[in-house]
Amino acid sequence: MKDLSAMLKTGEGRAFGVNERLPWEAVADESEAAPIVRSEDLTRSYRVGRGQVEALRGVSLEIPSSVFAVIKGRSGSGKTTLLNLIGGLDHPTSGEVTVCGQRLSGLSDRQLTELRRHRIGFVFQSFALLPTFSAYENVELILRIAEMWRGRRQRAMRSLEMVGLGPWAHHRPWELSGGQQQRVAIARALATRPSLILADEPTGELDSVTGRQIMALFRHIVLQEGITVVMATHDPVVEEYAHVVYELGDGQVQAVRRLGGV
Ligand code: ADP
Ligand code: MG
Repeated sequence: MKDLSAMLKTGEGRAFGVNERLPWEAVADESEAAPIVRSEDLTRSYRVGRGQVEALRGVSLEIPSSVFAVIKGRSGSGKTTLLNLIGGLDHPTSGEVTVCGQRLSGLSDRQLTELRRHRIGFVFQSFALLPTFSAYENVELILRIAEMWRGRRQRAMRSLEMVGLGPWAHHRPWELSGGQQQRVAIARALATRPSLILADEPTGELDSVTGRQIMALFRHIVLQEGITVVMATHDPVVEEYAHVVYELGDGQVQAVRRLGGV
């Protein structure tokens, strides 16, 4: 079993072949070149008392496939709102989101659930691990929920190995550091072999060195697995790792910066 630093050095540790296609990946209208996420004039307003908060005011963006993309902006700029709309956890007030070639407004609740379970992985600031479950059980549970029975054990272990936590598989969250807990959450997001991982301030509760390790891990996953990672953060350090940064301010995209040759 190799640890993460060895994986990063040698480029080994690929858990799933990039070309390995699973049944739900055979989506007819998805071409390799198409952006994996597209939003068109997206707005989301919340009713607050008698007033209204405009969290997003017309967000149009395209996120290419297989990149480490960052939604950057200060607190209240609309990052979480935007990630929730991309992940189909919330519905826009107006506008349209297309993910993996599918217009979310055209999907039934069941289809939306399928898309979320099989093609999107979620990572949160608070890790959201079950405290009485081991690292392995936390990862394996997501495969049960997705009804992915075949090779479940192996998949869960491979995902933990990918984030450098093979030796920690049978430890519970309280036996792990914050950075390790977040890596378990990333392994959990990887386990279903999604096309897209959405991470909302995943380094928000970590010290800066550990935060950098998480960003390096995301970049590694993108390069090795061809998965797209979309991470919301206000941390300027992220520019050293990201391929593309969407600067969000006042519910709008203020700037798009392409880094690292995208
Ligand atoms: P960020 O994640 O960048 O901090 P959010 O998307 O959480 O920003 O919030 C954007 C704006 O929308 C903020 O002004 C926030 O107060 C408001 N907002 C977010 N969620 C709700 C909600 N459920 N009800 C009312 N207002 C909300
Ligand atoms: Mg937020």
